[in-house]
Amino acid sequence: MGKLDFVIEELVTANRVLANEGIVDSFGHVSARHPDKPEHYLLSRARAPERIERSDIVEYTLAGEAIDTNAPAPYVERFIHGAIYEARPDVHAVVHNHSPSVIPFGVTPKKLRPFLHMCAHIGHEVPTWDSRDKFGDTTLLVSDMDMGRDLARLLGSRPTTLMRGHGATVVGRSVRHAVFVAIYLEVGAKLQMQAMALGEIKFLSAGEIEQIVGRLNDYTLDRAWENWARRAGRDMQKS
Ligand SMILES: [Zn+2]
Repeated sequence: MGKLDFVIEELVTANRVLANEGIVDSFGHVSARHPDKPEHYLLSRARAPERIERSDIVEYTLAGEAIDTNAPAPYVERFIHGAIYEARPDVHAVVHNHSPSVIPFGVTPKKLRPFLHMCAHIGHEVPTWDSRDKFGDTTLLVSDMDMGRDLARLLGSRPTTLMRGHGATVVGRSVRHAVFVAIYLEVGAKLQMQAMALGEIKFLSAGEIEQIVGRLNDYTLDRAWENWARRAGRDMQKS
């Protein structure tokens, strides 16, 4: 199997896993940088993640134009993906989702931060991008490259960002990595609301986060991926 085939298959599995784990519902998407053409990325046509097949995956330029001029209708928010690939050469996969537990942190002053070791990968503190700051009243959707680039600027070198009243965007070095972080972002947000109800939280220290992130290897990612993939009715490809 070629590299492109491998990534397309990974993307189908990623969509099914994210849906099965409750990170995306009928909305939300996951992309991968093209393995042979770093100036292009791969993303499904506009379709609910749980329903996506190999034939739905479309190749786009970073500006969000489909290479195939007859390609089916794209996601409005594909600009999130292109703008991040443009700004971050280290990023090879992007997840955008509206998972329920992250939403309250985007609309209140409470910062989403990791205190569970598995959540160290969400970063030291998750920032919130507010579309209104620069673009005023909008539908809140990232509907052009200007908005995508503004989001990418706030993301900076971080792994995650929240989006006020909308959702979250997560990046990774591979599809498996981005899915892993997106799942633990939702887990961390849910747990933080529960812990806040009990009292003051002892968060991970900066040093703990660095050590945990430094130890994340393919063994860990593959162990989670096999479980999530099979739970979603998909086989795990040999990486
Ligand atoms: Zn969205």
